[in-house]
Amino acid sequence: MRYLSTRGHADRKRFCEILLEGLAPDGGLYLPEAYPQISAAELTRLRQIHNTQGYAALAFEVLSLYIDDIPANDLRALCDKTYTEAIFGTREIVPLKVLQTKGVPGARIYLEALSNGPTLAFKDMAMQLLGNLFEYELTRRNAELNIFGATSGDTGSAAEYAMRGKKGVRVFMTSPEGRMSPFQQAQMFSLLDANIHNIAIQGVFDDCQDIVKAVSNDLAFKHKYKIGTVNSINWARLLAQVVYYFAGYFQATQSDTQKVSFSVPSGNFGNVCAGHVARMMGLPIEHLIVATNENDVLDEFFRTGVYRVRGSADTHETSSPSMDISKASNFERFVFDLLNRDSARVKHLFHDQLNQTGQFDLGHDPLFAQAKTKFGFLSGKSTHADRLHTIQTIYADNHIMVDTHTADGLKVAVPLAKPNVPMLVLETALPIKFAATLVEALGCEPDRPAKFEGIEALPKRVLVMPKSVDAVKAYIAQHCD
Ligand SMILES: *Cc1c(COP(=O)(O)O)cnc(C)c1O
Repeated sequence: MRYLSTRGHADRKRFCEILLEGLAPDGGLYLPEAYPQISAAELTRLRQIHNTQGYAALAFEVLSLYIDDIPANDLRALCDKTYTEAIFGTREIVPLKVLQTKGVPGARIYLEALSNGPTLAFKDMAMQLLGNLFEYELTRRNAELNIFGATSGDTGSAAEYAMRGKKGVRVFMTSPEGRMSPFQQAQMFSLLDANIHNIAIQGVFDDCQDIVKAVSNDLAFKHKYKIGTVNSINWARLLAQVVYYFAGYFQATQSDTQKVSFSVPSGNFGNVCAGHVARMMGLPIEHLIVATNENDVLDEFFRTGVYRVRGSADTHETSSPSMDISKASNFERFVFDLLNRDSARVKHLFHDQLNQTGQFDLGHDPLFAQAKTKFGFLSGKSTHADRLHTIQTIYADNHIMVDTHTADGLKVAVPLAKPNVPMLVLETALPIKFAATLVEALGCEPDRPAKFEGIEALPKRVLVMPKSVDAVKAYIAQHCD
């Protein structure tokens, strides 16, 4: 298996070469040259493996189709080490729950739990594997990597919990001082591992991102201090997420001819793009539903064909903050497939047109209609009022509390559900992470998993810094020897 860039660069790379990289050299995103196809017999075999040997064994099978530069026994060991009940809380890893909803009669709606990992958000599903892959590959190369990033919450904590104590890796994570929820701050800042560095910047999230960009643009610094990232465009993260579409399918169906749909609370289009990959491989998915919050860049595209990135001034701060995006960084991967993999055209749209005008319009292109007909995409948006209402009705009908992001997925999914096609809504976080909105909706605090009892009172390790590129660089340099 070789990987290419969506913008047409001539290189063809193997999995471990792109594992530690971000964007391709031409600014494009990496994708496999072709999606491996799952025949009916193969799907039956994968179901058998999932049902008898469990999630880790399924993960090994799916990953093996894309990774041919790690020996099979090593890859299997990495999957076995990652997807355990001890880390993800249940033997199924991504268990389904049936929901009672007053929606379309006869429609069956499930929640697929992706958020029982160490930081209680779905990002652990991929990041935990990434931590083990990084450690494996860095050891093999006798190399080191310093991960430098900006977070407004879920990504930073998932990265830190995945990389803590790992050989060859340090994490330097900036976040806007005082802006994350108290629970999120406690989660991150209570990590005392020597290789984890929390930097609270006196500013907003955009200031943190600007610092990360400035450091990444200083190629000499980046090279000298072996700076890397773990953002959602990393192919290995996306690939790890493909597995739970298969696991959800096998749990919701009995036979391999049945179809299911998925509703995915979306921000950077990483999660639902993994669903797209699973569908391209032949997993019987009817619809992939892109659910957005008030930041509806993606819903607008799937309704009209117009992709219009927002400035920071028109990006709303919402009660599902992990979906507050101004542009969807993985979206280029889907557009590449939609345009029949025409990389010259992708480059023109994403490099020239977006940079010059901040938008492009595929609404008049006959290929646009295929987003729905051939690729199965539907979309919808949800607002704060919808979120509160959904949290209330799900609680009233099921005695289950859902988090604000998952509520967006449910709000959009329920009216689109059909009899005979199970609808799987991906649960992307647990409600305790966003307790304030749960209290607003239900008047009570959400349950807290036992391992997080009292974390707000734990000692914190965080350095507060002004929004200064030089100060941050000096700190990194000082801690990299
Ligand atoms: C990151 C995140 C999302 C958005 O996922 P994308 O892959 O960026 O589309 C949704 N919900 C939660 C809780 C998240 O942490």
